[in-house]
Amino acid sequence: EVDWFSLASILFLLTFAPLIVYYFIMSCDQYQCSLIDPLIDLLTGNKYLSDIWNKTPMLTYRAAGIYTLWVTFQVFLYVFIPDFCHKFLPGYVGGVQKGAVTPAGVVNKYEINGLQAWIITHVLWFANAYYFHWFSPTIIFDNWIPLLWCANILGYAVSTFAMIKSYFFPTNAKDCKFTGNFFYDYMMGIEFNPRIGKWFDFKLFFNGRPGIVAWTLINLSYAAKQQELYNQVTNSMILVNVLQGIYVLDFFWNEAWYLKTIDICHDHFGWYLGWGDCVWLPYLYTLQGLYLVYHPVQLCTANAIGILMLGLIGYYIFRMTNHQKDLFRRTNGNCKIWGKKPEYIECSYMSVDGTKYYSKLMTSGFWGWARHFNYTGDLMGSLAYCLTCGFEHILPYFYIVYMTILLIHRCIRDEHRCFSKYGKDWKRYTAAVPYRLIPGIF
Ligand code: NDP
Repeated sequence: EVDWFSLASILFLLTFAPLIVYYFIMSCDQYQCSLIDPLIDLLTGNKYLSDIWNKTPMLTYRAAGIYTLWVTFQVFLYVFIPDFCHKFLPGYVGGVQKGAVTPAGVVNKYEINGLQAWIITHVLWFANAYYFHWFSPTIIFDNWIPLLWCANILGYAVSTFAMIKSYFFPTNAKDCKFTGNFFYDYMMGIEFNPRIGKWFDFKLFFNGRPGIVAWTLINLSYAAKQQELYNQVTNSMILVNVLQGIYVLDFFWNEAWYLKTIDICHDHFGWYLGWGDCVWLPYLYTLQGLYLVYHPVQLCTANAIGILMLGLIGYYIFRMTNHQKDLFRRTNGNCKIWGKKPEYIECSYMSVDGTKYYSKLMTSGFWGWARHFNYTGDLMGSLAYCLTCGFEHILPYFYIVYMTILLIHRCIRDEHRCFSKYGKDWKRYTAAVPYRLIPGIF
């Protein structure tokens, strides 16, 4: 059943999320990234909504061409080029991998080739920038708003298609979740793992590509724009490129591991993932770089080093916490965490077909400090990106505010799910590890 609060939140997001993205991008385009000035203009009657709208670049054939080529290329890399990176990169897990058991007891296979897609795309990008000169490296920045319309078209098309597909030709009917509420089903998705054919998995494709492969290209395009406008790339722009680049590369290096995260393991595929991956992620996760095109901040060395350290320590915590859980689960607890055998709580759960499964919840390492210390590391990294932009405007800080809300909401959602799954065993775990994000505080 969908309670009124969930329904209200869903209606709010369906209505306002596209407007929020438009507002942020428009503010940079027309108001030098000030979030307040458009409001003042509108409230004082200095401008009408129609004035702002009329100044907004519309969809162009060029942007439609770029976007179609981009998505087609990513589909091609995903579907037609089997992974070769795992054959020569030690420690990298790629190629055909199994996902987690779905509630209906299905184990899906995935072709993990995101790192390869990322490398090929970036090699081509640099080859173009330094050698071929087919297009300017500022191409993404220069078409940013026309591309926004294309991303929206794809985001809505894929979410609507997923909804229709779940009624008429679901990939696995037993894994569909119908609440009977149209808006909830559209937003949160009905099908668990919609696929076309054997290998085109919607969640894996849209979650990682085209949005996350694009993330680093978008930042590179912003850096190129700074170079074009000011004849230099500021150290803040380099920091954003480096820190977010590490995060993106980490994502692809661990793509097989992401098969076990909430997005792939528990979320159904609807507008939240479909539109979110196509629009929200590439447009709002890259706000710092966009801001720095309009406000080229040059940080003093001490601040730059401080921000770099915060970003790297955050990344270390994020990675190590995730790694500890992965190692623990992969070896079924037969491993060492911080040099010792890990402690854990034994738990059991039942799938819908009534089969009983056993699992373990670790209480050692970072998982003994807090129940979601990986999120804490993620938040430290997110704060570092924002700090590169100085304190003149609030727009670049949207990311840390959003990530805090997202990850706290995720904590609550995940814990609710774990409680339904493990029942009293989960209670024993929360008694052993009482804090969520910050030991002793929250
Ligand atoms: P987690 O990787 O923390 O996975 C949560 C699951 O892990 C739980 O549902 C439970 O699953 C299992 N688990 C919980 N506690 C324990 C324990 N003590 N020992 C062993 N297993 C445990 O969450 P996410 O999938 O949300 O996040 C993965 C990463 O992705 C995080 O680092 C997060 O920061 C990042 N992320 C980034 C986002 C972004 O937009 N940048 C968005 C979302 C996530 P089970 O049912 O298997 O027991």
